Amino acid sequence: MFHGPGDLRREDLPVPAPAQGELVMRIDAALTCGTDVKTLRRGHPVMIPKVPTVFGHEFAGTVTAVGTGVAEFREGDRVVAANSAPCARCPSCRAGRPNLCEDLLFVNGAYGEFIALPPRLVERNVVPLAPSLPAERAAFAEPLACALLAIERARVEAGQTVVVFGHGPLGCLLGMLAASRKARVVMVGKAGWRFDRLKHLGFAQWLDASGAGDVVGAVRDATGGRGAEVTVDATGRPRCGSKRSTRSAAAAACCSSAAARRAPRSAWTRGERTTRS
Ligand SMILES: [Zn+2]
Ligand SMILES: [Zn+2]
Repeated sequence: MFHGPGDLRREDLPVPAPAQGELVMRIDAALTCGTDVKTLRRGHPVMIPKVPTVFGHEFAGTVTAVGTGVAEFREGDRVVAANSAPCARCPSCRAGRPNLCEDLLFVNGAYGEFIALPPRLVERNVVPLAPSLPAERAAFAEPLACALLAIERARVEAGQTVVVFGHGPLGCLLGMLAASRKARVVMVGKAGWRFDRLKHLGFAQWLDASGAGDVVGAVRDATGGRGAEVTVDATGRPRCGSKRSTRSAAAAACCSSAAARRAPRSAWTRGERTTRS
């Protein structure tokens, strides 16, 4: 249970029973997202408007109980659920932009053994898993969906150069997705244990932004002076150099919690914003 910044406690709670339209899931895998870390440090007025509350928001598991009126799922189904669901009624939702929903429902509780999913989430954002997909991988669905949408909106294609600024989990997902589209990926990060571990994975060239070198110049050198076709800012910092590394008529995607603060969020596109110039 989260009682406020810096105060996360292990507590015994009753296993929830599903109300009408709800599902109860046993959590098989839960992830710790950067947002969880930030929330633990300083709270989160949108995702966690009041405390104490159950905590954690990226998870996959197995349905253990089904409320009346739920026809799509049964006990024993393995599923992944988003941690939010748009209302489908507000002007933004009706305009086809659920990421700007004015009444987004948030669900927390990934760190528990069981979680009850409310009807709106069950209707819109619970997805069955293939038997071959382990829960530990399926739990990546929410951050992976943000990265997928960014790569799709940036129209990444084979042969392009994609520069990703930031080598946190989302930056890496973005880089790996671009590489899976056969783009040439350049990851810009800062030296340290994470940088050292990741650079051996082989999906990208790596540039150390903490060195004395000129990163923007290095990107331009590597692209015949033209710059990258696509740059992605996954740093959360306003002046990371992504725009200056981008050639004209190219795409720059912002995929960070800083962008999320400027643009409201959605179930599957939270924190992602793309611009074209
Ligand atoms: Zn997250
Ligand atoms: Zn809405």
